[in-house]
Order: sequence, then C-alpha cells, then structure tokens
Amino acid sequence: LSALVWFRRDLRHFDHAALHHALRRAGRVHCAFVFDSGILDALPSRRDRRVEFIHASVVELDEALDALSCRAAGSGGGLLVRHGRAEEVVPRLAAELGVDAVFANRDYEPAAIARDSRVAQRLAEQGIGFVDCKDQVVFERDEVLTRDGKPFSVFTPYRNAWLKRLDADGGALDAWRIEGQAGRLAPKAPGERIPALAEIGFEPAGLSGSALPAGMRGGRALFEDFAARIDRYADARDFPALKGVSYLSTHLRFGTVSIRELAAFAHGHGSEGARAWLSELIWRDFYHMILWHHPQVVARCFRPECERLRWDEAPGLFAAWCEARTGYPIVDAAMRQLEQSGYMHNRLRMLAASFLVKDLGIDWRLGERHFAARLNDYDLAANNGGWQWAASTGCDAQPWFRIFNPVTQSQRFDPEGRFIRRYLPELAQVPERFLHAPWTLDAAAQRAAGVRIGIDYPAPVVDHAQARLRTLARFGVLKA
Ligand code: FAD
Repeated sequence: LSALVWFRRDLRHFDHAALHHALRRAGRVHCAFVFDSGILDALPSRRDRRVEFIHASVVELDEALDALSCRAAGSGGGLLVRHGRAEEVVPRLAAELGVDAVFANRDYEPAAIARDSRVAQRLAEQGIGFVDCKDQVVFERDEVLTRDGKPFSVFTPYRNAWLKRLDADGGALDAWRIEGQAGRLAPKAPGERIPALAEIGFEPAGLSGSALPAGMRGGRALFEDFAARIDRYADARDFPALKGVSYLSTHLRFGTVSIRELAAFAHGHGSEGARAWLSELIWRDFYHMILWHHPQVVARCFRPECERLRWDEAPGLFAAWCEARTGYPIVDAAMRQLEQSGYMHNRLRMLAASFLVKDLGIDWRLGERHFAARLNDYDLAANNGGWQWAASTGCDAQPWFRIFNPVTQSQRFDPEGRFIRRYLPELAQVPERFLHAPWTLDAAAQRAAGVRIGIDYPAPVVDHAQARLRTLARFGVLKA
C-alpha cells in the first residue's frame, strides 16, 4: 500500500495523526503541501505575514521530513510542494504518484469541510481512498456532549465534561508516534523544489524582523519561554503591557506545535496558572465544536433572535476604529498593535470588539472581517466565537447589558499606561491620571504634555455614556 499525506494546518513532523496513521498502514508514504490559490487569491494584500509564516514553516518541514527519512531509511525524502487549487492538485498528484489513499488531518471550517468532501469524491472516482484524522483539537465534534447527548452551548459545564473525559480517556494526550512505524517516507524526485514566496505571488511582509518566529523551531522557543512563566499566567494574562501570555496562537493555528503536547504539559503541571491556561486551550476546542455543530454562525448570530438587532451604518466611525482614531487611547493602542504586528492581546480584542459593537453600534461582522484580514493567528472558530461573545450574540456570550467602559477598563488593565505609551507615542508625555481619557486635559496641561487634543490626537468619536444608553435601547428589542 502507498499513501500521500496532505499537510494543511499541521506543519510539523512530530505528533502528527495523519502521518502516523499513513506510516502505520502504508509501506511507502509521500508528503505534500499545496499553496492553495483558492485561499491565497482571496487575500486582500500581497504582503501577508501569514503566507510568509506558512512559507518559512513549509521550508523547515521539508528539511525535517528529509532528515527523518534519512535517519529511517538512509535516503532523503521531504515535502512535495505545489501551487494551485488544492482540490484539483491533490487528486492529480495522488494519481501521478499512484497512491492508494490520501491521509489528512481534519478541518472543522465549513469551506474546508466542503473542499475535503469534493477531494474525497474525486479521489473515489480514481479508486483512491481519503482518510481524515483528528489532530488539531483534543476533543472534537461529538466527543464531549451533555448528559442528554446534545452539544454544549455553555462553556463551564463543557470544560468540566472535557476534563472528565480526559481523566477517563488516558490516551487522549498521547503523542502520535512517527518513528518506528512500518512504513517509509518516499524519496523525492530529483528537481523537486519549493517555490519561492514571489513565485506564489507574495512579497515578504516583515515577519523575519518581528517577534513571531516561524516553524516548529519558533513554536518550541515560544513554548519553552512560556513554560518557565506559566505559574504566573493567571495573574499576568490580563495586562497587555506584561509578558503574561504564551503568544502561541499562530503556532496553534498552523500546527507548528502540537495541541496534545501543550495540553499535557498544562494538565500535568497543576499550578493555578497552568489550570487557567489549560482552560484557554479548552475554549479553543469549545469554539471548534460550536463551529462544527453550528456552521451557520459564520454569517449569522448564534442566537437567532439577535438577527432582529438593527446596527448603525456608520462608515466614518468604522474607519476611525480601523485606523486607530477613536480618541480612546486603549482602543487606539490595541488597533495599532494589530496593524503593526498582526497580534492583539486577548483583553484588548475583547475591548476593541466591544467598543465597535457597543460604543459605535456597528455590526460585529464588519469587525470580524477586519480582524480576519489582519490577525496572524486568524482562526474562523475562535475569531467568530470571540466576536459573537463581545457582541452578546453568541453562545455563552457577555450579557448584552454588560458594556465595557473603555476608560475604566484602561485604568484597570493598563494602570500605568505602559501599553498605551508604547503604541501611541503622541501621548507619551501625558500624565498617568489623564492618559486613559486625554480629552479631560485642559489647554495648559495639553501644552505641557506636548499634545493638542483634536489635532495631534483625536477627540473621542463618541461619548461613552450616551453610546451605552443607545446600546441598551438597541438590545431592548430582545426583551420583546
Ligand atoms: P494565551 O492566553 O497564551 O492562550 C493559549 C491559547 O489558547 C491561544 O493561543 C489560543 O489558541 C487559545 N485561546 C485563548 N483564548 C481563547 C479564546 N477566547 N477562544 C479560543 N481559543 C483561545 N484566537 C485565535 O487563535 N484566533 C483568532 O482569530 C481569535 N480572534 C479573537 C477575536 C476576539 C474578538 C476575541 C475576544 C478573541 C479572539 N481570539 C482568537 C482568542 C484569544 O484572544 C487569542 O487566542 C489569544 O489572544 C492569543 O494569544 P496567546 O496565544 O498569547 O494566548
């Protein structure tokens, strides 16, 4: 038997379910990655950090697979890398290689599910099997259900059931072993090479100079750095000026780290910080489960009655939010962080999303798309879940009458304004007690701080107290 492993959002050569199963069941295993023009052509910019991240990770994976096959069989292997529509390229490649089956790790996004079913259909027409494996989450689909056998829609009981299932299922976090299997990685044909970034139509987007190291090596370095401070996670995670979180989300998104390894580390560690972090990994499983059971959330509110909400058409306010010109420093600093780095701290994602929906009255879907185009770690399940949480339209969401106050949140989570000053140098000289609401500076204080509100830094685009009342009225329709 021979097989093709199709790598997608699982760019590693260790603890890899599809590679493990292929090597167990087939004597000869080819590995491939496709730069999918169906996805790439739809990206808004030709300079995209995610494409650069994937490209660097694919280069590293090719080297790692080559080293692995040299160790196992004395001859080099590696990754066959193609550029084109994956749903055409994969069946064609499988036929050219004459494999009996294609193995891939399961994806839970509706578009990926539809693509995979078309691929499976084409392969079946050629007499080739398609085997998909659980890999990117710990528990998927129907593996964690309520006592009545229904999917959960509230997180805390889901987490409790998830942890119970983990205790019952001792092997759930075991690594999928790659070495020591019966199968061998097939050697690559001479002349096989990885297309350069430019050949797939992209330019470098500044990833190499950023704080996000790519590939398995990058994921390992970030994980080791975080492992040493995981005990402080529960206390530090909400403060964007601190190095309190793991910064592993992009690696989790592209599978350059293994979710099982991370969850096993947190579970085994046992400190309060590790428990809090494991809970975040469970949120990740939760939103993937939600998306799989409720694919309509991609375009619609999880709570159907929320489709009755009438949002404001406010292109000027939307542009101010996107361009970090709202006049609320914590929101603007967050939006600059996103623009400059492709990352935004979780506390700030919650705040920026809440501000768009509940201070500006704008449909969460616009904000969700804006984040989707920019986040390095953009993940449909988590982004949609996060936005619908903040907009109070989702499952287990923030209650609609709880509206973050951007000034008090700023005072609480960036008390000295270190994060704000980092991203808004125009406010660097503003004293701490005015920094969270700089429009309260009088003219003399503005002169002393070297900033003119309304000129060097915007005046607030809305008054929070009035916006809050408008939002309460807007959501009032839900009571009817
Ligand atoms: P850590 O705090 O170290 O958490 C570890 C991991 O747990 C993360 O890497 C992530 O994989 C997972 N995680 C943490 N929080 C959540 C959560 N609320 N939901 C699901 N998984 C979580 N996360 C994404 O991975 N991609 C997104 O596109 C995304 N969009 C978001 C949009 C909004 C409006 C909100 C409120 C949250 C969003 N999140 C998203 C969740 C969260 O903000 C990020 O996962 C986190 O900030 C990434 O940083 P980290 O890796 O340092 O996280």
